[in-house]
Amino acid sequence: MKSYITTPIYYVNGAPHIGHAHTSTMADILKRNRKALGYDTKLTTGCDEHGQKNQEAALESGMPITEYLTMRSGEFQRLFDMINVDYDYFVHTSRPEHMRQVANVEQRMFDAGLIIKKQYSGLYCTGCEQFKKTTDLTDEGNCPDHPNLGVEELDELNYFLNIEPYRQQLLEHIEENPKFVDPPIYRAELKRMLAEPLEDLCISRPKTRVSLGVELPFDNNYVTYVWFDALFNYLTNLDWPKEGYEQWWQAAEHTIGKDILKTHGVYWPIMLMSIGESPPARLSVHGHWVGPGGIKMSKSLGNVVDPIEVIEVVGTDALRYFLARNMRSDGDSNISLELVRQTYNSELGNKLGNLLSRAAKFSKKQFDDRVPTPGLFGSADEIIRISVLEAVNGFARRIEMADIPRLTQQLITVCDRMNNYFAEQAPWDLIKDPITDERCRTVIYVSLDCIRLVFEALRQVIPMSSNAALLMLNCLPNENEIWQPALDSLPPETKLNEIETLYPRITE
Ligand SMILES: [Zn+2]
Repeated sequence: MKSYITTPIYYVNGAPHIGHAHTSTMADILKRNRKALGYDTKLTTGCDEHGQKNQEAALESGMPITEYLTMRSGEFQRLFDMINVDYDYFVHTSRPEHMRQVANVEQRMFDAGLIIKKQYSGLYCTGCEQFKKTTDLTDEGNCPDHPNLGVEELDELNYFLNIEPYRQQLLEHIEENPKFVDPPIYRAELKRMLAEPLEDLCISRPKTRVSLGVELPFDNNYVTYVWFDALFNYLTNLDWPKEGYEQWWQAAEHTIGKDILKTHGVYWPIMLMSIGESPPARLSVHGHWVGPGGIKMSKSLGNVVDPIEVIEVVGTDALRYFLARNMRSDGDSNISLELVRQTYNSELGNKLGNLLSRAAKFSKKQFDDRVPTPGLFGSADEIIRISVLEAVNGFARRIEMADIPRLTQQLITVCDRMNNYFAEQAPWDLIKDPITDERCRTVIYVSLDCIRLVFEALRQVIPMSSNAALLMLNCLPNENEIWQPALDSLPPETKLNEIETLYPRITE
């Protein structure tokens, strides 16, 4: 089975921000999940190097344009490397073969009579690089996603794709495929977008205004609308239209933020339908990160969270854990460096790392550096073992992006129960009396075996520290084997490695 997961390709008109880190991390978690289940996986992320916004940012920087684009896309790639995104392919839309295929598909659409040229006057948001209807705007007449930019009046001769004829077909596709858009609130939003007739999609920009893009093959006074060009990366990454892309394409899942639902949920499926390709299998949509108190991040408020700074202060896994654990599926979620640090200290440090350290060090000290051989399990043992296995099993199935926070929280909730079990069983008392020695061995065995299971699941979320923990327990699973969580897979008498502090406390 194949799994093809994509992230949006990000505009490089500024440095990468927390939203970019989030989408790419969630896509990475999905890939690790599918890989653990034995799928053939492919994950792509990357940069959009065309369009007016990039062109203006390059101009403002004073750098030659290609140098600017290389500098910025390098920053994105470094962030994704730092945050441990296991991408198979890093997209650059300036790649000649991508540009060639975009031009080819445009020529095909043009020859088929799908593209028309006409004068258009309307309101335009440079932030979205899209024409807007007045009904798209806020009461103040601004773009809801770019309220500070203002919209401008444009009157231009451009090329358009007639998309209204496909609206009904797309609505039917959404009805027939309830999981096409997930979670359901964004499915409902997409259906609202498709409730009214669709205006023609402008697919060109005059070179007098934008020169950074794919030249239209049938009119060299124009470049391709940046979104039209960018969306096709999802196919050109697969060497489309060459033989062999189909199997991957059938499994395509796009991870996106809610602000680009329209481009991915309306324009892209219709562009695909118009050339006889099927829509992607899945659009997984998430909300946005905002500052504490739900306040939108802005430089002037000083509440912008820089992912690189967070990684430098608390580390990659602290950030990955926070992102995975906290994104609400019904709206926006709060983040700050302080919140990431608190969550790291209280959950990864106090609950998980601390338990590993206590149980493993006790075992090393009392049982000759080894995992003890347990006696018979009692009811307290079975209760904790079953709840751990249940929580861990959440990651042993195919997960969707919207499931990630709940499943991650389940693991930490079960850590609370493991800590309670450890405290109630009090192995430090049991060891004192030869009569309870075997009971002590059982409690330590159960604790270590449960900790192992939790880290096996967490490899999908925080792979670096989970692998480090499993290495300390000397039971690192083989990456290439299908993962089937099971109790008692930690062999008794396993020699434990050095136990180091996995999540050292971080204070200001
Ligand atoms: Zn906008």
